[in-house]
Amino acid sequence: MKQLKVSAIREGTVIDHIPSDMTFKVVEILKLDSVKEIISVAANLDSKKTGKKGIIKIGGKFLGEDEVNKIALLAPIATLSIIKDFKVVEKNKLAMPKTVEGFVKCFNPNCVTNHEEIKTKFHVINQSPLKIRCHYCERAMGSNDIVLK
Ligand SMILES: [Zn+2]
Repeated sequence: MKQLKVSAIREGTVIDHIPSDMTFKVVEILKLDSVKEIISVAANLDSKKTGKKGIIKIGGKFLGEDEVNKIALLAPIATLSIIKDFKVVEKNKLAMPKTVEGFVKCFNPNCVTNHEEIKTKFHVINQSPLKIRCHYCERAMGSNDIVLK
């Protein structure tokens, strides 16, 4: 008989190699309060690759494109595994996007995107530490300034 770890999920998604300090930001993106199956969140685990990392396992949930794009911005080195029948059926590395549209709020209160119905747009100008620049007002923002819509 197969032994199952407590945290194993039958079907769902595992996000691994999340930079530890981004783990709970990723949790926010995923809106896990609507998930009815096992959710396991671990942070500050030792990782050879990144120093400290976080892992999130979510039973019964597969991510939409929008969620994947948001996670790619905050945790571009994370990996995304899709689990079916306790096995990894698909494993993808995320990649930092070049531009980010629609889901980040510009932190400049005078920016046109905060006053008119315009989709926000940012250019990624540095990956690590993360720096993005607003397409409209050209204000640069770091990861601490980023508020997701
Ligand atoms: Zn702006």
